[in-house]
Amino acid sequence: MVCKWYQVCPMKRYYEQGELEKKWIENFCKGDYQSCVRYQMEEKRQPHPDRMLPDGSIDKSLKR
Ligand code: SF4
Repeated sequence: MVCKWYQVCPMKRYYEQGELEKKWIENFCKGDYQSCVRYQMEEKRQPHPDRMLPDGSIDKSLKR
């Protein structure tokens, strides 16, 4: 199963641009996406920054 947000998620874009490690995609987007903090916040319609990783931490090295 792939997360339903994957096609529009900034994590996909960062990964395809070579800015994000594959482990995030494997472990969350194409794995246990329900444990992704981004996913949980999307479900609750809570705003969150593009640079927030699936574990809820902010990666300031990612471009906005
Ligand atoms: S980062 Fe989270 S919300 Fe985005 S596609 Fe991956 S699992 Fe889904």
